[in-house]
Amino acid sequence: MLRHSDLIAAVKAYDPDADGAAIERAYLFAAEAHGSQQRASGDPYISHPLAVAEILAGKRLDAATIITALLHDTVEDTTATLDDVRELFGDEVASLVDGVTKLSKLELQPDQSKQAENFRKLVVAMSRDIRVLLVKLADRLHNMRTLSYFRNPEKRVRISNETMEIYAPLAERIGMQDWHDALTDLAFTELHPEARRSVLTRLDYLRERGRDLVSRVIEELENLLEAEGITAEVSGREKLPSSVWEKMKRKDVPFEQLTDIMAFRIIVNDSNECYRALGVIHGAYRAVLGRFKDYISLPKANGYQSIHTAVLGPENLRIEVQIRTQAMHRIAEYGVAAHWNYKDGGGTLETDGLQYSWIRGLLEILESAEGAEDFLDNTRLEMYKDQVFCFTPGGTLIPLPHGATPIDFAYAVHSDIGDQCVGARVNGKLMPLRTALQNGDQVEISTSRDRTPSPEWLHFVITGKARAGVRRAMRLQQRDQYVALGKEIIRSMFVGRSVELNDRALAPVLDHFSYSTTEDLQAALGEGLIADRAVAGILFPAEPEPEPEGNVVPLGPTRRQRARDKGLAVAIRGLIPGMAMHFARCCHPLPGDPIVGIVTTGKGVTIHTVDCASLESFRHTPERWLNVDWEPEAKAGHVARLRVTSAHQPGQLAEISATIAANRGNITNLRFTSRAEDFFEMQVDIEVLDVSHLSNIIAALRALSSVASVDRARA
Ligand code: MN
Repeated sequence: MLRHSDLIAAVKAYDPDADGAAIERAYLFAAEAHGSQQRASGDPYISHPLAVAEILAGKRLDAATIITALLHDTVEDTTATLDDVRELFGDEVASLVDGVTKLSKLELQPDQSKQAENFRKLVVAMSRDIRVLLVKLADRLHNMRTLSYFRNPEKRVRISNETMEIYAPLAERIGMQDWHDALTDLAFTELHPEARRSVLTRLDYLRERGRDLVSRVIEELENLLEAEGITAEVSGREKLPSSVWEKMKRKDVPFEQLTDIMAFRIIVNDSNECYRALGVIHGAYRAVLGRFKDYISLPKANGYQSIHTAVLGPENLRIEVQIRTQAMHRIAEYGVAAHWNYKDGGGTLETDGLQYSWIRGLLEILESAEGAEDFLDNTRLEMYKDQVFCFTPGGTLIPLPHGATPIDFAYAVHSDIGDQCVGARVNGKLMPLRTALQNGDQVEISTSRDRTPSPEWLHFVITGKARAGVRRAMRLQQRDQYVALGKEIIRSMFVGRSVELNDRALAPVLDHFSYSTTEDLQAALGEGLIADRAVAGILFPAEPEPEPEGNVVPLGPTRRQRARDKGLAVAIRGLIPGMAMHFARCCHPLPGDPIVGIVTTGKGVTIHTVDCASLESFRHTPERWLNVDWEPEAKAGHVARLRVTSAHQPGQLAEISATIAANRGNITNLRFTSRAEDFFEMQVDIEVLDVSHLSNIIAALRALSSVASVDRARA
């Protein structure tokens, strides 16, 4: 077991200013906190944090990171608290320990393999300070090294899968290539022992055949380069079994033909010499087709730069060759921690052509950082900052947009859960439904069958699914009312007539408005989406309109109103053709007043002035508001026809017509061409000025959450 004095000496060797006393205190604190706890190996528990700290010291990390490594399991596994840590080691260390503790808790969640990519994002999002991720990766590396002590094979496989799918790719992503290799190989050993054994056998055989091949090739390469006046360090190694195996899987190489097991590295002084060295190698050996990669002109996302090639080397064995400069080598070896080598005066980093701004930002900090603390404090992984990742109590990961609430969460899990949501516990605590969720929150939704969504929710939900869910539920609630009203309106139309009210009598009306059931017609009539007089006109085409005094259409407008509305109807924009419209008696709008329409059960649209006091009572039913406007004198002139597919939601027609009106289009006709349970397809004729005017309208419609598609109908 490593002694803590050796650890302090190792840190002091690369960072003489490091606070050795603080590291010692952290060691003593952790040793006492873990007390007699043991690792699965039977070693005292403190051996684990010490080993993790040692791995990080190998990357020359700062004292705060080393201290965090020593303390990383105390809050999770002992009676020590985060407050103790803060009191003794300050805010910086406390926040690092907190980050690592949170990540460790996530590991206890059930199998996440299907959601590996999401989980990886979550880990990154939670490691806002990159040191949290570095400690976590070192922790995982040591746990993998001691994995064989676990008795339970399922646990070993689970941990190995997680390592393969999440931690190894993350290590590679931040440029810690050797950690990636070690993690992958350890996981591979556990997951595919047979494959590994056969690869090792093959490697043995090839090693036998090419005795001392590695050193012979190194010598040959050195001589070739020296002859061309290139000073280079050449090194060689056998590839890891896991990477040989991966290569076989990827390239589909039969095992017998696998000769490609040695990799050589040539390190030169500048990037010009890289290309000269490449010329020398390709001049001496035949290049293997399709294996040349220039990561100098096109660096990897993590900043990695090198030239890769493969050639048929001595004895016709394939060898892989990597060529890079010292500076590039530091990035390859130390990843994000590479800057420490700059303390002893290194070269410059070549950052041109990097595709990802976050890593470019990282490298800029690498170049400009005054010292270790500066670098690490400034380095935050900014990826995924627009997303939060939350869990169900069962451990399922639910990714949501930033600012999402428990209602959004509930609808993301299932629309029934959203519809019946009555309350939410966030991390075990009862919280208001409008709470903005944070990364890693565990959310438990309480539901009740008697509960229906509140229109209030529309003020704070942010996902389209929640919004659509609330609206759909509101529509269903209202539908029964609308059906009853529509039924009554139709019944009254038949009062005193010789015609019998039955499905056959209503058939022409259903046909005209493309409704499939009588109930749909009743609901539309009750909601005011179609006008009672239009229905009456189809039912009794030959008959004159009833006398106003008779008032046999009790909920409809009077004849005088109708006459007035008829004259003015064309003067209002934003209405849906066929929809009944009249002016509110409370405010008597006049042309020129700012106005708004309110869809009223059984009455169609009522036009109010925007400052009308009666609008207050519609504050909580935003879906009933209709943007309308007075028609200006000038007419647009050209009629365009659109095909619109839209979700079946309350207020969706109003939303569409309001959007068209807001963009100064005028609907001249609207017809449903098909109606599924969830979606309407309709044909809309609009008066527009020109094509670009139409494009604006189309774009605005496409932006609506209820609209699935909008296209010009050119038939
Ligand atoms: Mn640990």
